[in-house]
Amino acid sequence: MSLVLLREGRAEFWAPDPAKYNDPARAPVFYNRYMARNRTISTLVLSAFSELKGGPLVVCEPLSATGIRGIRYALETKAVERLILNDISSQAVDLIKKNLELNGLSAEVYNEDANILLRRLGRQCDVVDLDPFGSPAPFMESAFQAIRDGGMLCATATDTAVLVGNYKDKALRRYGVRLFKTPFYVEVGLRALLGYIARVAAANDFAIEPLIAYWERHYFRVCVAVREGAREASDVLRRGLAYIVYLGGIRRVARRETAHSLGPLWVGPLGEPDLVARLPRPQEDRSAVELLNTLTAEYTTVSPWYYLSQEFGDLKMEVRELIDLLLSNGVYATPTHMAPYGFKADAPYGELYLILSRD
Ligand code: SAM
Repeated sequence: MSLVLLREGRAEFWAPDPAKYNDPARAPVFYNRYMARNRTISTLVLSAFSELKGGPLVVCEPLSATGIRGIRYALETKAVERLILNDISSQAVDLIKKNLELNGLSAEVYNEDANILLRRLGRQCDVVDLDPFGSPAPFMESAFQAIRDGGMLCATATDTAVLVGNYKDKALRRYGVRLFKTPFYVEVGLRALLGYIARVAAANDFAIEPLIAYWERHYFRVCVAVREGAREASDVLRRGLAYIVYLGGIRRVARRETAHSLGPLWVGPLGEPDLVARLPRPQEDRSAVELLNTLTAEYTTVSPWYYLSQEFGDLKMEVRELIDLLLSNGVYATPTHMAPYGFKADAPYGELYLILSRD
């Protein structure tokens, strides 16, 4: 395997030359530089979570590839007491060990199927971070066997087309949700993923509370705090899961499935605005700063959808002007990271239409 030395965050590491493999999935060991922002934000969230917990944590990344994610967690935070890395590929495992050594770190490194490792670990982990190819669903049940009360589950999903409703049958098979395409499809995807995680958690008597959930062009990323307890798990399911009815622009939350509903989806908060507001802003990455600022604001809205400005006719207004107009009419509204021409607003479509079409 021909390797090149790369840098990401504070880590230096060996990876197959990205110039040689247009598609990182075809490289002998996977490394995708376009996931660097995902790893940076995850590092900040891990750090904040360990402060919240009041100490360092047992962190398991069972799909490690080059090991860069876990290495950055160990190098850039004080959050890691014990690091467990794993990959089913022996070439990846050799590279993980080489990269740990290069960075002067030690970790437990395994060469197992992630599901077997997670089940064997059984309730030893404070944090399980699932960062697979495609869907995290095949590993979710095992993750909830490895995680302990008060821990955190993080998951990346790159099967965005399934989650946003492009492949209805696959969404039903893999995530147990009925979907169709809506103008707010990105939020549907995030909420389908969170709803699925909430149900798997509940099946294992865990309640979830999303700390951060966001989308970037090619992936969804979520980190949820988990608490053990059958009653709380049931409460969270009752409050957090519902259907969204979408018909002719109008959206509403319904507790039961109807002919025009999507779901079951997570309809609770997408994240914890105070925690996201407190995350240090990575000044070397302007887009990450903007993303974190937008998330902080949009997590304070309650509607589980966004609107697109074009849903209100040919408005001759920038999104920012439109939001200001809503605010001046007493409607709480913010931009959303999920669509450049989108906005979140806590009011029904009809009310927004009246305000926006008046001027
Ligand atoms: N987390 C890495 C990062 O941030 O760079 C990227 C991980 S890559 C997308 C997915 C990895 O999972 C691959 O290295 C692959 O070999 C490994 N993998 C796939 N199926 C697995 C399984 N069942 N058990 C363990 N590892 C697996």
